[in-house]
This record gives sequence, C-alpha cells and structure tokens, in this order.
Amino acid sequence: SSSDPSSPSPAKGGVENVVIIGSGPAGYTAAIYAARANLKPVVFEGYQVGGVPGGQLMTTTEVENFPGFPDGITGPDLMDRMRRQAERWGAELYQEDVESLNVTTHPFVVESSERKVICHSLIYATGATANRLRLPREEEFWSRGISACAICDGASPLFKGQVLAVVGGGDTATEEAIYLTKYARHVHLLVRRDQLRASKAMQDRVFTPLFPVDYHECFRVFNNPNITVHFNTETVDVVSNTKGQMSGILTRRLDTGEEVVIEAKGLFYGIGHSPNSQLLEGQVELDHTGYVLVRDGCATTSVEGVFAAGDVQDHEWRQAVTAAGSGCIAALSAERYLVGND
Ligand code: FAD
Repeated sequence: SSSDPSSPSPAKGGVENVVIIGSGPAGYTAAIYAARANLKPVVFEGYQVGGVPGGQLMTTTEVENFPGFPDGITGPDLMDRMRRQAERWGAELYQEDVESLNVTTHPFVVESSERKVICHSLIYATGATANRLRLPREEEFWSRGISACAICDGASPLFKGQVLAVVGGGDTATEEAIYLTKYARHVHLLVRRDQLRASKAMQDRVFTPLFPVDYHECFRVFNNPNITVHFNTETVDVVSNTKGQMSGILTRRLDTGEEVVIEAKGLFYGIGHSPNSQLLEGQVELDHTGYVLVRDGCATTSVEGVFAAGDVQDHEWRQAVTAAGSGCIAALSAERYLVGND
C-alpha cells in the first residue's frame, strides 16, 4: 500500500487507478481533478460527436453562461481549454471510443479497438444526445434556426424578439416554450397528440401567466398569452425565404390532413434526450429511461468504484457547469474510494 494514504499512487501492476470515459465538461473536469490528485487518469475521449473529442459543446458557437468568461467563449475554445488543462496535469488522453466494459468483477476492464485497460475505479461521463426529428432540411438549418437547447440559444440574436416554435408535448418542450417567452415575440408549441404529456405543474404554467402580478392570479386559469398550443400537429419540415433563412415550419394537422406553414424564425426540439449509457446496461442500475442512477448529490452508482458524472446521470439540468461540477464530485469520490481501498 502507499506510504502516504492521502495520496494514492499511480498505476501499479498494470492496474490503473481510474479510467474516465468521455471528453465533455464532466469528463475533462474529472480528469483535471484526478490528475491533480496524482491518480494518473486514463481518459477515453471518444469521437462519436462530430468525430472530435469535446462533447456536445463542440456543436455550438457561443457559450454565454459558463462562469469566468464575461464576454462569452465558443464551445470548441472552452473544450480545448479544458482538454489542455487536463493534459497539463498529466491525464493520459486517447481519442478512442470505449467499445466494451466489464464492471461486474473487480478490477474493471475497459476496451477500445486499440487497447484494453484494467482499472480500480471508473468515471462514466459519456453525456446524452438530444433526440432529433430527422426533418428533411434539419442538417441545413441545424444551429441556423433549429436548436435542441432553449436555455443555450434562446437569447441569441438569431432568436431574440422573433416568433419561435417548440416541438414536443412533454416536460422538456413545455419548459422550453415557457423559457423562450422571456425572449421571443411569441412561441408556438407543436404537439402531435391532442393533449400535453407534461406534468400538471408544467401544464399550469403553459395555461397560466408565468409571473402574475398578484400571486392569487395563479389560480385563475387562462392561456399564457405568449404561447399558442397546436394540438394534433405533426412537424413535417422547415421552410426558408428567398435569402435562404428559415422563415417557417411546415406542419400537418393529423385530424384533417391539412398542411399549414406556421411562420417562425426558430424551431426548438423538446423531444427528449437519450443518455449514452448503453455500455453500462445490465451492469449498473439505470432508471427506466436509461439514465445512470446515482445517490442524491453524489456520483456513486450501484456498483462500488463506478462513478457517473454529467448528462448521462442528469435528465434535469443538463448544463456545462453542472456537468463540470459533477465531474469534480466524481473524481473526488474516486480518490476517496481509492484511498480507502489502498
Ligand atoms: P457531453 O458534452 O455530451 O460529452 C460526452 C462525451 O462522451 C463526448 O465527448 C462523447 O464523444 C464521449 N463518449 C460517448 N460515448 C463514448 C464511448 N463509448 N467511449 C468514449 N467516449 C464516449 N450548456 C451550457 O451550459 N451552456 C451552453 O451554452 C450550452 N449550449 C449547448 C448547445 C448545444 C447545441 C448543445 C447540444 C448543448 C449545449 N449545452 C450548453 C449543454 C451542454 O453541452 C451539456 O450539458 C454538456 O456538454 C454535458 O457534458 P457531459 O460532459 O456530461 O457530456
């Protein structure tokens, strides 16, 4: 065992202290903390998102809400900085996808197409992917009118003061619609079914004013004047004007078959996210939608020594800063676990 129990030693006997899977804010933050704790973390960065490491923020332009950057920073620049910080402290980075892993026996086994790594602890930070509608012109207008994150993009000049649309009928969509009313001139909510699936609490916020002057107004139910809900409405495609800018959404009424173009400068997907937790299926407890279950406020999973961080365990907040925070918790938890095990 190590002579200094507060400082776990680097890999011994071919067994690494900790493997981190993922290179978003959660993975890199975990790597920074683990490397600074002298754990010599091995990071599988993956290349699934756009063929590069860095995670979801590689697909966006300005990030305006990450603390420390008062003038904003581009997603790729932010991720490059996190990567360099992890590297500077000695994290070993591999641009490879993990293809299989076994955490049913200890030590754990992690395999990519290039290497097999044995480790005492594992931090799983593989993120989540926003579900897409796969509209015919989706690629053309992705980030130029179509977005999957109202909180990230709602206030951008592209959308501010415009008429916008949100597709979906669950909590995500209603939340996005309500959030967008802060910036948009008007919001259309496009719902396939004839009712909202969202929780009663969220529905009340769609159908009542968001910030009533008099608190008791809450109990008077009437439509939020800034949101029009279109039931039985399928989103077919986006349409553009002669300048090639997005100008509306082609919809089809499911009850009548009628096609209607709704004018809007932006379309937000609120049709859910899918956590990238496939590799843990059958080994670690997941919730019914596939998110990794962690103990409240911790990164601890159902398997000792396996920690989860970022969007793969968070269906609620899904922000870069919360992912980074949970990456920090995961690394400190892994360190504690390793010290205890040393
Ligand atoms: P991710 O960023 O999703 O990273 C996961 C990583 O895991 C990826 O690198 C992936 O390649 C890797 N991976 C997956 N599977 C494997 C595997 N098998 N092997 C190896 N690696 C694997 N949040 C904000 O706070 N502010 C914003 O302005 C903002 N803008 C956004 C704009 C867009 C377009 C999107 C999509 C999201 C935005 N977000 C924003 C949300 C933010 O990006 C996420 O909350 C955050 O990236 C989650 O971090 P993460 O580390 O959990 O996962």
